[in-house]
Amino acid sequence: MHFKQFNFHPLIAAGVTAAGYDTPTPIQQQAIPPILSGRDVMGLAQTGTGKTAAFALPILHRLVDGPRGRIRALIVAPTRELAEQIHESINTLGRKTRIRSITIYGGVNINPQIQKLKQGVEIVVACPGRLLDHLSQGTIDLSHVEVLVLDEADQMFDMGFLPDIRRILKQIPEQRQNLLFSATMPADIRALANDILRDHATIQV
Ligand code: AMP
Repeated sequence: MHFKQFNFHPLIAAGVTAAGYDTPTPIQQQAIPPILSGRDVMGLAQTGTGKTAAFALPILHRLVDGPRGRIRALIVAPTRELAEQIHESINTLGRKTRIRSITIYGGVNINPQIQKLKQGVEIVVACPGRLLDHLSQGTIDLSHVEVLVLDEADQMFDMGFLPDIRRILKQIPEQRQNLLFSATMPADIRALANDILRDHATIQV
């Protein structure tokens, strides 16, 4: 199998080539078609399987021709390190596009984040706590979010972020595509999945 078979927008296909990817990994082969078709997806996959590109590429493909300057994809991750990695992957794969991504997390000055939000972005990669700070201060507008990704959901649960995530979910449109990635499937993640996913495809690698 080759990335060509997904028929990505030429600017996204160029990003795949520039990243040096040739063959999609198993999670990419299984997850990209349902995500491209707009379905909700539950992906059971560890780090290192290529799961980031599995959701980043269809998101970039979806956003490439659309309106700019509003947040259309929200990716929530448990740690700054993961948020930075996801942001870097998006920048690499989306380097031929004008799509802008920023990271939002605590432990750093909030003002540069506010400045970047004011300039306009299409993708936000966030940790829950600081995202809630922005929401309560009114410095972020999530009313145009079309795609939500919860990455390493089991990790977020272990870190006690589930109540924060539920608060965030209340502030994004109900009509959206949901992508949930987790390395394991404990009962609480299953319950979260049952709550938020609609007619989803489950992918396990
Ligand atoms: P991830 O599981 O998303 O953290 O990705 C693990 C590593 O695999 C990252 O360094 C990616 O750049 C790389 N990667 C992802 N997809 C592919 C692919 N199809 N071919 C080669 N490398 C890839």
